Amino acid sequence: MRLITVGSVAFDAIETPFGKTDKIVGGAGTFISLSSSFFVKDQGIISVVGEDFPNETLLEMKQRGIDLEGLQIKLGEKTFFWSGKYHNDMNSRDTIITELNVLENFDPIVPVSYQGSDYLMLGNLSPQVQRMVIERLTKRPKLIAMDTMNFWMDIAWDELMKTLALVDLLIINDEEARQLSKEYSLVRAAKKIKELGPKYVIIKKGEHGALLFYGEHIFFAPALPLEEVFDPTGAGDTFAGGLMGYIAQTDDISYENMKRAVIAGSALASFSVEKFGTERLKEITIKDYEKRVQEFVTLTDYRINTL
Ligand code: AMP
Repeated sequence: MRLITVGSVAFDAIETPFGKTDKIVGGAGTFISLSSSFFVKDQGIISVVGEDFPNETLLEMKQRGIDLEGLQIKLGEKTFFWSGKYHNDMNSRDTIITELNVLENFDPIVPVSYQGSDYLMLGNLSPQVQRMVIERLTKRPKLIAMDTMNFWMDIAWDELMKTLALVDLLIINDEEARQLSKEYSLVRAAKKIKELGPKYVIIKKGEHGALLFYGEHIFFAPALPLEEVFDPTGAGDTFAGGLMGYIAQTDDISYENMKRAVIAGSALASFSVEKFGTERLKEITIKDYEKRVQEFVTLTDYRINTL
């Protein structure tokens, strides 16, 4: 298997200034694996859902080459549910409801067929569960990437530190980077985070793009300026899935390739926000993706003569 994703497969209810949804399919693991399926056909997911989760979605995932042997279905139990409401600027949101349900006692079982995988993407989950997966793998993947959030910094700081020490790449947003490092400057924040374990750090700044830090290098990728942002839920996960899918497909963990992967992730994330949930990601083809990558190139392409 090329890539394993660990992450929530969930129901979300979202409210934005443009509209409101009932329970729709969401979850970090769903967005990540859907996004990486544009690049890898040989991937698996480790997650858990309840009996109430639609079979139809599981079939769609399978059709995209996502192996579901690592996805546990708990009979008589309910799927994780999250509900959030966005403020007018769409850059900030409030969590209204978090019902852990099946995630409460999640024991991430690694199927034998997933052993020997080259790449591992740890979506936002408890740091204990993330570490359990790393420890259960018999061979260390070539690259382990991880996402986390303020919630875990507040309630599981020590566990988070132990898991961070084991990963190669941390992908977080600016607010989280500041909380984790206790530094306002993102350059200083990235430096401090690198001292905790990961050699690569990516700091996402929503509609203001993303920064990649490695050694003394810094790379910046803009977000595509869009006329309409409908629902930012899962944009970060789509970014991470695109990035890891690209790296897994190219099988190259150099800094130069990581830069291209950041653009691939940014391009897919720019689609994700155009409709509610996973709707837009399911509509687009690899041709749409390629066209958008070209828009990124055009956006930042300039020549300037120095005096
Ligand atoms: P993002 O917009 O990238 O922060 O990701 C949103 C997704 O994360 C939603 O689809 C939620 O289902 C999922 N999510 C929200 N809170 C949690 C949590 N505490 N644990 C796992 N997944 C979560």
